[in-house]
Amino acid sequence: MEKIYDVIIIGAGPAGLSAGLYAARGKMSTLILEKEKVGGQIVTTEEVANYPGSEADATGPSLVARMIEQCNEFGAVIEKDTINEVKLEGKIKELVGAKATYRAKTVIVASGASPRLMNVPGEKEFTGKGVSYCATCDADFFTDLEVFVIGGGDSAVEEAIHLTKFARKVTIVHRRNELRAAKSIQEKAFKHKKIDFIWDTTVKEIKGDGIVETVVFENVKTNEITEFHADEEDGTVGVFVFVGYIPQTSLVKELLETDRVGYLITDDNMKTKIAGVFAAGDCRVKSLRQVVTAVSDGAIAAIQAEKHIADAFEE
Ligand code: NAP
Repeated sequence: MEKIYDVIIIGAGPAGLSAGLYAARGKMSTLILEKEKVGGQIVTTEEVANYPGSEADATGPSLVARMIEQCNEFGAVIEKDTINEVKLEGKIKELVGAKATYRAKTVIVASGASPRLMNVPGEKEFTGKGVSYCATCDADFFTDLEVFVIGGGDSAVEEAIHLTKFARKVTIVHRRNELRAAKSIQEKAFKHKKIDFIWDTTVKEIKGDGIVETVVFENVKTNEITEFHADEEDGTVGVFVFVGYIPQTSLVKELLETDRVGYLITDDNMKTKIAGVFAAGDCRVKSLRQVVTAVSDGAIAAIQAEKHIADAFEE
């Protein structure tokens, strides 16, 4: 008979790893399934300035590495698999993955969110060839070159600041004339000698021959089109896109309640409308999507999963 886990967690970002740590520490048999990179979005961030108690030089990867260690210490198992189908209604939940089918008494959905695309011509074609969604991963390729950062939120401005360590010049291109990012982050960017701004502007097209050579911009107020051509000696220019994130909830959104955008609706205890199914982290409707709130969600979900098992499975 196939193993029935106490808890299966879908997603190994901070929410999933925190749920894993709490579940395993509560002596529940715990499996964390991840389809991509263990660690989620935070491993793409170099600087983690606002996670209370973290070391001054903490990075996304270093924080995640410790979370994984803690999960392992308590016996949570982390496996790579892509879940393609879920059966959540019954007392025992079933998850059908590419490699195996998994069964559990409770499921915690911690599937996170992924970068939103601009959806402009050339964006997909040049991803990895000048277009990037991860400054930590790709900044190095643009040492001494020019880069554009698209977006005006915390991600765009923070990553622009990170990129100044590598690039010769960083230009933030925002569709309005006012940033969305937190004031403290804005101030740093405004003061930075290497950072310039282009306001009221979006990317219309990205062009090149194998790598990005030209970025076409449109002023959204005047509709004026301008083309930026990479310096001849540089041969290329970077385009780092940070225009928000979309929830990774397609697997469960027909079964659970979501908001208009697709974020999962839970109560304060991370409970979804199906008993024994919880959601945690960035995939959930919430007012603040940060590591600190993701790990909090994960902890609550795991403790509630334990309560659910006590109520539903034990006499
Ligand atoms: P965000 O806050 O949703 O900002 C997205 C930005 O992209 C906005 O400035 C938006 O413009 C712009 N945008 C959206 N669609 C666009 C399009 N099609 N073309 C051009 N621009 C477009 O996303 P985020 O910055 O990734 O942040 C996500 C969440 O993570 C937020 O809750 C944020 O606070 C949090 N976060 C926190 C930190 C931190 O505290 N250190 C760091 C990173 C992220 P408008 O402003 O006009 O809408």
